Amino acid sequence: MSENLWKEALKLFAGGVNSPVRAAVKPYPFYVEKAEGAYLYTVDGKRLIDYVLGYGPLFLGHRHPYVENKIIEQLQKGWLYGTPSPIEVKLAEKIISHIPSAQKIRFVNSGTEATMLALRLARGYTGREKILKFNGNYHGAHDYGLVEAGSAATEFNVSTSNGIPALVRNTVEICEYNDLGCVEKKLKNEDIAGVIVEPIMGNMGLILPEKGFLEGLRELTRSYNTLLIFDEVITGFRLGLSGAQGYFNVIPDLTTLGKIIGGGLPIGAVAGKSEIIDLLTPSGKVFNAGTFNANPLSMAAGVATIEVLEREKVYDTARDSANAFSEELKTLLEKKGITFTLNRVESMFQVFFGVREVKNATQAKQSDKSFYFRVHQKMLEQGVFIPPSQFEVIFSSGVHNSHIVNATLEAVKKVITEL
Ligand code: PMP
Repeated sequence: MSENLWKEALKLFAGGVNSPVRAAVKPYPFYVEKAEGAYLYTVDGKRLIDYVLGYGPLFLGHRHPYVENKIIEQLQKGWLYGTPSPIEVKLAEKIISHIPSAQKIRFVNSGTEATMLALRLARGYTGREKILKFNGNYHGAHDYGLVEAGSAATEFNVSTSNGIPALVRNTVEICEYNDLGCVEKKLKNEDIAGVIVEPIMGNMGLILPEKGFLEGLRELTRSYNTLLIFDEVITGFRLGLSGAQGYFNVIPDLTTLGKIIGGGLPIGAVAGKSEIIDLLTPSGKVFNAGTFNANPLSMAAGVATIEVLEREKVYDTARDSANAFSEELKTLLEKKGITFTLNRVESMFQVFFGVREVKNATQAKQSDKSFYFRVHQKMLEQGVFIPPSQFEVIFSSGVHNSHIVNATLEAVKKVITEL
């Protein structure tokens, strides 16, 4: 039973968990026995429709048979060699063929490592020290990323973590998302090596770039010889095969990837112009290494996932189901006269209560978090798992077909009517 496991876990782990958002499910997280397709099966015997999907990577749902077979095939050939393997060449070629900014790539093991490395590369390339990030953007759990961070850092009221040296904190400049005026001022007055941005903000709920924002970042960074880094850990291969950069047709200097490119196994990557990536060791003097970098299992799962994305209509199914779910939610909320904002793009969306627009982190923080949490809890009671935190997004996938959608709509109807 989840309750018993939780009691044990509290003795073993800080706050009972190994990643904070998992503890946002109350009174305690449900423990998962197994997963299949769009469903999670809990140790308490419940079946849940999953709209969290591992916080993004499982764009093909759980245990996609093609991906599973490719992982097993690789497993039977060994899972760590300490020397290159053919599958890393294949995944690199696939990613480079789809992501416009990618000429060369370095594989690491998480989005956190990817952004940490991209920022080091920006400093190494420009010889400057500072970086600019946006309030509420989340780039992973390293010192530079954890200044005014979104996601669980906001959920647990540690937007800027304790334990970050002042020396590091002082090299991170912050602007509000969608505020080009601020960016221009910072670029003019500070010596900025790189501007890192989530091209679509998926760590403060969902927040979209206003028309001209990404284009403006591109122009400004170019004119100040600052690198533009798109953190596409969420959006890479989710918004389409060419990521947010293809979707908006704005091409950054560096791109960080993770989540979907590993098909649900641990991965991260930094891709970009050859002249920048070549600064990495051993060809250059910006250091990176990793025992598990380009590990064959993650590579195999990544190649298999992208192959499915190339040949099947995953994007259509995922978009249609997110659309149906969010439209039903909107209609019901309007009918009830509840004030809300719903932001959506392709297969991701989030709803904010008590606010009429959400275009940056400050507005997102003004929304009624406890109302959102009530909706999450009631959905869970009806067998649908949406994130327990306002500052995450609802993800759909290629296995959220009309059968799953219909069951979801029934649940939403019940929940909103009874609110
Ligand atoms: N960047 C973004 C945009 C993310 O959403 C995340 C994780 N949610 C990360 C970086 C960090 O990735 P990881 O959890 O794999 O370290």
